[in-house]
Amino acid sequence: MARYASAVCRLCRRSGEKLMLKGSRCFSPKCAMERRGKPPGQQPMRRRRLSDRGLQLREKQKARYSYGIMERQFRRLFGKAERQLGITGENLLVLLERRLDNVVYRLGFADSRPQARQLVQHGHIMVNDRKTDIPSSLVKEGDTISWKETSTKTEYYKQVRPSIESKVIPGWLSLEEENLVGRVLSLPTPDDIEAKFEGQSIVEYYSR
Ligand code: SF4
Repeated sequence: MARYASAVCRLCRRSGEKLMLKGSRCFSPKCAMERRGKPPGQQPMRRRRLSDRGLQLREKQKARYSYGIMERQFRRLFGKAERQLGITGENLLVLLERRLDNVVYRLGFADSRPQARQLVQHGHIMVNDRKTDIPSSLVKEGDTISWKETSTKTEYYKQVRPSIESKVIPGWLSLEEENLVGRVLSLPTPDDIEAKFEGQSIVEYYSR
């Protein structure tokens, strides 16, 4: 499955925002946005104001970068949001948040979405007791997310367990801390999602 494989800190610098793609490094002084927040590449003498289209494009890219999705897959997800009842921008937010790699991140099993994606792809995660290695699969209300039996013997799992107490789990998920089993209590609402981008701008971008 395709993914963005270049230096991810460039994506934050390009977006002008911290997208938190590198786990603990994002909270340290080593963060590239702290050290040099300017966009990558040569700086123009005078920065041009972005057009409406440019602003919409930036919101769309921020969403893509945040969830680590390539354009074609993102466009497909947008089409699915459009076909659902309700507000397309909000539907899109909810669909992004329901991705399995995001849920693994939100449960605190990984420090960043890219790391969560790797956990899923490497087959460490089970959904309803079945191994699921597709990061883009969407969770449903009532699903349980747990670790594969052999994965609970790994050093990584042993490190995650004590650190989980300091993580903040969103209200639509629950977690049994002693055995790291998560549960989807309800589907997320747009208010549950601390989105760094505007869903409506993405709708306008694709509506042209
Ligand atoms: Fe973005 Fe994190 Fe890199 Fe900082 S360290 S630029 S927040 S990915």
